[in-house]
Amino acid sequence: MADRPDEICPRIDEPPPQPTRPAAAPIYPASVHVCESTDQAEGLLAGSLPGYVYQRDGHPNADLFGEKCRQLHGAERVAVASSGMAALALAVLSQLETGDHIVVSNQLYGRSSLLLQQESARLGIESTEVDTCNLHETAEAFHVKTRLLVVETIANPLLRVADIASLAELCHSHGAKLLVDNTFATPVLCRPMSLGADFVLESVSKIMNGHSDVMLGVLCGREKDWERVPLVLSAWGLASSPFDCWLAARGLATLHLRVQRAAENAARAADFLRGESKVERVEFPGLPEHPDHALARRQFDGGFGYVVTFHLRGGRAAADAFIAAAKRIPFCPSLGETATTLSHPESTSHRGMSPRDRQSLGITGGTIRLSCGLESSDSVIEALVEGLSALGADA
Ligand SMILES: *Cc1c(COP(=O)(O)O)cnc(C)c1O
Repeated sequence: MADRPDEICPRIDEPPPQPTRPAAAPIYPASVHVCESTDQAEGLLAGSLPGYVYQRDGHPNADLFGEKCRQLHGAERVAVASSGMAALALAVLSQLETGDHIVVSNQLYGRSSLLLQQESARLGIESTEVDTCNLHETAEAFHVKTRLLVVETIANPLLRVADIASLAELCHSHGAKLLVDNTFATPVLCRPMSLGADFVLESVSKIMNGHSDVMLGVLCGREKDWERVPLVLSAWGLASSPFDCWLAARGLATLHLRVQRAAENAARAADFLRGESKVERVEFPGLPEHPDHALARRQFDGGFGYVVTFHLRGGRAAADAFIAAAKRIPFCPSLGETATTLSHPESTSHRGMSPRDRQSLGITGGTIRLSCGLESSDSVIEALVEGLSALGADA
């Protein structure tokens, strides 16, 4: 009766035999793999035998994508998680315990700040927020319970640059570890582990994937810090989807070219904007007047990132007029797309911050964050001209 539909349809099929090798990786959506024996099942689940059993514990597409990220960062170990935030949660839950203390930069991605301060506090993990551009202030925040310092290589939206080698040295002299969120830099520009960082995090949802169609994060680290990572990834349900890993691996093939083009566009946009009278100030580490320009030159390889922030004279009204007029630059509160996009920190990424804190960082209603894409630089400049033209001459 093997030809009945109810025999044929539910069957687990063998993949077709292939004498040739496909030039693109397959997608493995399987939630579970077939075990050959009880011994093998036991070994696979214990991690003593290579292979896959259950997708939440690991799958081929995560390994294909993760391995490339590991190589890009020169890391010993890598874990792929369902988002950048999941990768940060993975770091917290695998490395920290109740009673531990962390030091965090005062310029972190909003949700990272929330996770590392309010959410971690609920688990009894204390935190101190400091200006990590001030090494002295940062050193003062460490005490005997401090386990981790979290900074971003290039911080949003003022694009301040972390001195990774000095911060790593500071952490290690206090018996703590350094986690660097490298999302704005990417491994093309900066490899924090080679500068002494213990963990590197990338939100793959941004330019790493680069096509606005994936949510994924990676955490890189060292063998000696990895013992609890696979268990936490599985037990807290932070694992990635095969399709997203497959798309992101495809994006990686062009990462170096995309970052290079976007960084060239950013450098030209910054240079253009600083000469415009309607722009009060431009933040870009590639500009000689940026407070971290010398550090950025030393620390980055081939560019200063793809994000440029500028402050329009005339506050929120000027920003609204610019956004309405700059029709070729969509207002997308994310970054790292193929197209140039803009965001408005006051109403999006930094809306949770008190007006006073925003002011002390220099974020106004007129602050615009530009994420440069892959268009010709002429077309980026033209789009900016279009936006600026809507502002009164003496706005
Ligand atoms: C987007 C982002 C995150 C969070 O990543 P998701 O993939 O959105 O969860 C963390 N850090 C930085 C700097 C980001 O830009």
